[in-house]
Amino acid sequence: MKLLRVALPVPVFREFDYLAPAAEAVLPGRCVRVRLGPRRLLGVVVDLPLESPVPRATLLAIDSYADDLPQVPPDVLALARFAADYYQYPLGLALQHAVPPRGRQGAPLRAEKPAAYRLTAAGAAGLRNLPARASRQAQLAAALAGGQSIARAELLANSPAAGAVLARWLASGWIELAAPEQDPEREGTALLPDLNAAQATAVQAIVAAAASFQTFLLHGVTASGKTEVYLSAAAAAIARGQQVLMLVPEINLTPQLADRIRRALPFARIVLLHSNLPDAQRLVAWRQAAEGDAQFVLGTRLAVFAPLPRLGLVVVDEEHDMSYKQQDGLRYVARDLAVYRARLRGVPVVLGSATPAMETLWQARAGRYLLLPLPERAIAGAPPAIRLVPQRDKQTIGGIAAALRAALAANLARGEQSLLFINRRGYAPSLLCAACAWAAQCHRCSARLVVHLGEQCLRCHHCGHEEPVPRACPRCGDQDLLPLGFGTQRLEGVLRELFPAARIARVDADSTRRKGTWASLLQAILDRELDILVGTQMMVKGHDFPGLTLVGVLGADNALYSADFRATERLFAQLTQVSGRAGRADLPGEVIIQTDFPAHPLYQSLLRHDYEAHAESLLAERRQLELPPCSRLALLRAEAAQRSAIESFLAAAHAEGQELARESGGVRVFPAVAARMARRAGFERAHILVQSAAMRPLQDFLGAWRAWLVDNAPRNVRWALDVDPQELD
Ligand code: ADP
Ligand code: ZN
Ligand code: ZN
Repeated sequence: MKLLRVALPVPVFREFDYLAPAAEAVLPGRCVRVRLGPRRLLGVVVDLPLESPVPRATLLAIDSYADDLPQVPPDVLALARFAADYYQYPLGLALQHAVPPRGRQGAPLRAEKPAAYRLTAAGAAGLRNLPARASRQAQLAAALAGGQSIARAELLANSPAAGAVLARWLASGWIELAAPEQDPEREGTALLPDLNAAQATAVQAIVAAAASFQTFLLHGVTASGKTEVYLSAAAAAIARGQQVLMLVPEINLTPQLADRIRRALPFARIVLLHSNLPDAQRLVAWRQAAEGDAQFVLGTRLAVFAPLPRLGLVVVDEEHDMSYKQQDGLRYVARDLAVYRARLRGVPVVLGSATPAMETLWQARAGRYLLLPLPERAIAGAPPAIRLVPQRDKQTIGGIAAALRAALAANLARGEQSLLFINRRGYAPSLLCAACAWAAQCHRCSARLVVHLGEQCLRCHHCGHEEPVPRACPRCGDQDLLPLGFGTQRLEGVLRELFPAARIARVDADSTRRKGTWASLLQAILDRELDILVGTQMMVKGHDFPGLTLVGVLGADNALYSADFRATERLFAQLTQVSGRAGRADLPGEVIIQTDFPAHPLYQSLLRHDYEAHAESLLAERRQLELPPCSRLALLRAEAAQRSAIESFLAAAHAEGQELARESGGVRVFPAVAARMARRAGFERAHILVQSAAMRPLQDFLGAWRAWLVDNAPRNVRWALDVDPQELD
């Protein structure tokens, strides 16, 4: 028998030794199924030690090798190790990210045949009579129309609702299961535009760096042709026989983008990886990546852990986007891990953005990242004109200023589309009593309840608590309850009154909760079946709506009041992105921002499309306050049912932290403060901020502090370390 050291998905900072038959050669990264006490777990071999601290007689043998799963390749193992160390998280749990979710249970997978479907005669007849509005079904029908069998995975890629539609068709005999046909060799040549000079320079630099590690910052305004640069560089990598990994923010992973890549690179096998994919399909995608079969892996942050034996290029689009940070468990920033992965593999990585994160800009200025600027728009037409109008004037109706109303009316008359964007942060409508100032509050969280007019209820956006809208004030009995602030619903109502003839739709997390709604809304927008859209963040990213020429922004000023030091950085990025939505095609666009502070430097930089000036003022502020990127931060977050429990825990952690900080130079440990939302879902919350001029001493400090926390945290306190926190609440 030989020894295997196995990382297991349990919340302890150690690995476990098991025995395995000596005959078979084993390398780190192999998955094994083992028992730990009464549990059966999937683990990953991380080492082959010669000695165990545990006496041999008490060691268990593994149950089996989990060879139904791809092995964790050496670079992903190294990436997980790095992430576990850096983010102060158990290796066994970090490694879960390197195993497809289907495999994470302790029991072996049933061998699955990849399914395919074929249209039946009944189906062919039925689909001919589809109602015209059933555009999602029509897409699937078109894919199956030739009569050949199509892989299930490919059909599912059509839309988020495809799974449900296929199940229905299968039940009604419209389609039947078929043996999957061999995936035909794909062919065709790359369909890419002639690059302009800046694009060509960028592509040349990236291609020239093939087979060496180099981080590029592709900084280009919206519509400067960044995506074309990614695609050209990707085509070159694929032509060399390599795989490309492209990460996009969660919200950007649209069928539109996948289609665009398929059209541009018709010869490439493209695989999607994101958390909304059914587990079985994610396993298929994972295998295709692991076997080197998938040439282009397009995914959200979790794809940074995908096995890619022939990886040749990494792309991170919208690298500044918040959704690259995982907010629980392994609190990693996928952009940063992508850079580390490229370094492990010795391949180039391209970070693209119109508004690079201050952290990224900082690296570029230090010469560690190579800046590739795309200063001009790639397509004809000026960037949209930006206008600032007063948020509150005498003629404001329902929150919409006169100037914005006039622009909306004119746009409607021209038959063009408009978007009203509400900056949602801290801008949800709550309920207030005009007589006694009572406000509807969640009893489990220190947060106001949000009014949902459609369902006539109040809902907590933090814990999900729901209650009916009261008829009268519960405190003083007055019946004059005012919804305060603007939600998308209320705005939608106002617009319907102002523009009764307009076709209006709301696009937010509420209105798109039902699966597939989002896809059909997108289609309706593209088909010009809508005139005015009311939306939140969802509407902002990754879409190209040729008919959209006016964007109105409400509530932008909220970010100026925010306690979060990144709020203004985010606002600028967001406004730049919304502006990019206006007038992308041949029609000129206009952006109207309602604000009480038109002279604020942020808006002034925005008017001039001047990212540099904005970044300069942000960096000056960060330098002065010693905030990232001019320093590094970590948070110890804690929550408990009793306030006294977190108070005493954090007081002890603070004392210990100060003691330890004396040994590591330049680390400061601040006293505990209540989180901005001091109660959430019935738990009291507080945190300790740690600040350091440099990463190394912070890492040394955190390692030692964590060891103390593991040993000393009481059972009734939940705690977590958040390294490079993105939100300080
Ligand atoms: P970004 O990713 O920077 O927002 P895109 O790559 O999406 O920009 O380009 C914006 C539009 O300009 C797209 O329709 C794209 O096809 C087009 N485009 C980009 N580069 C060129 C080029 N060199 N020649 C012609 N059209 C281009
Ligand atoms: Zn009252
Ligand atoms: Zn709540």
